Amino acid sequence: ARTLCAPLPVLGRDVTVPLVTGGEVAYAALDYAASAPALQRVWDDVAAYAPYYGSVHRGAGYLSQLSTDLFENARRTVTEFLDCRPDDQLIFTRSTTDSLNLLAAALPAGCQVFVFETEHHASLLPWKDARVTFLDAPRSPRQAVETLERALAERDPHGPALVCVTGASNVTGELWPVRELAAAAHAHGARIVLDAAQLAPHHPVSVRDLDVDWIAFSGHKLYAPFGCGVLAGRADWLVEADPYLAGGGASRKVTRREDGGVDVEWHESAARHEAGSPNVIGAYSIASACKALTEAGFDGLVAREEHLIAKVRAGLADVPEVRILSLFGDDAPRVGVISFVVEGWNSSHFAAALSAEYGIGVRDGLFCAHPLVRTLLGGDPQTQGECGAPEAAPGEKSLNAIRVSFGAGTPDEHVDRFVTAVR
Ligand code: PMP
Repeated sequence: ARTLCAPLPVLGRDVTVPLVTGGEVAYAALDYAASAPALQRVWDDVAAYAPYYGSVHRGAGYLSQLSTDLFENARRTVTEFLDCRPDDQLIFTRSTTDSLNLLAAALPAGCQVFVFETEHHASLLPWKDARVTFLDAPRSPRQAVETLERALAERDPHGPALVCVTGASNVTGELWPVRELAAAAHAHGARIVLDAAQLAPHHPVSVRDLDVDWIAFSGHKLYAPFGCGVLAGRADWLVEADPYLAGGGASRKVTRREDGGVDVEWHESAARHEAGSPNVIGAYSIASACKALTEAGFDGLVAREEHLIAKVRAGLADVPEVRILSLFGDDAPRVGVISFVVEGWNSSHFAAALSAEYGIGVRDGLFCAHPLVRTLLGGDPQTQGECGAPEAAPGEKSLNAIRVSFGAGTPDEHVDRFVTAVR
């Protein structure tokens, strides 16, 4: 038996919120899949560093040098956390969405992209200029691999190709067979990028072991504050592409031409994609979160999360009107992200009641994965706004869903309160 890790201290655990029924209750944040609360340790590290921060890479002053060191050390810490290969490069971005858009802007000419329709929109949509093949939702991890293999076998074998896949679904929480999908991609001469936005906060991730070419994730889902994300992986496509943003930092040498124009030499490394003053506090926060998770130990964190998942699923299974949404079935390994509908209830009203009457924060809607939620609900949910779905009359199919999600900072009391409230 693995030892459960104690819930890690997170910011805002003691925040109280008013209830419509009168009184106040400690807020139960059960929307980690959208944004996890920052670890207290991350906040403390940032507060300790705050008096010392200065501009990075350019300043001659002591604090600028200190900040440059902290920024570059953060890059090393996160690279180690992801277990990257020695010649991989890591770029700090704004978020997973930003990382995948950066990669999309760096695709070689003629690149074909393969993506499952089940992806989050951040993985589904950035490939605007490429030929994109959208793959149907698989009903098992094995079917996912077979579907990808079939599609890749039919592709033009000479051109470049990229597969984009999630590590853990932001709707069902189910783990995807990343290693097998990477092997299939490579067997057909394609590259693969892993959207680890939901995987990295919950499981140790090894780029080397999974053999993915790139990985993307967001700090704000990994217990760091908003505003910083990561793209890490193979250097070649990145160093051959035009800079994602043009400007200072991306350029090595800029000269005026005789005809009046300007010549630019861009940096040869992936630093060409980090133009402008970087988000040094964001990078430092992500590194701090990576250290805190590593020190706490993923074994205990995973064991604890599995204990919470079991509690929530057993609690929901006890309510006959509840249907948990799943692609791969009850036995699929998953992270602490569970979406469900309640027969006869509008999901938005249900989520609003959890907040107003119990102080529980969950999310309702289509979770930026419209095709997947449509498939799971087996209907045609309205897609104009995440919360704007019309009411389902009693007995009618739900038009959107409710998502409860949790992680390293979640105490048992929060999920117990949630289960009681749903009952
Ligand atoms: N991919 C997945 C699987 C996600 O869950 C999310 C966030 N919901 C994203 C990408 C996008 O992350 P961000 O909003 O931080 O860019």
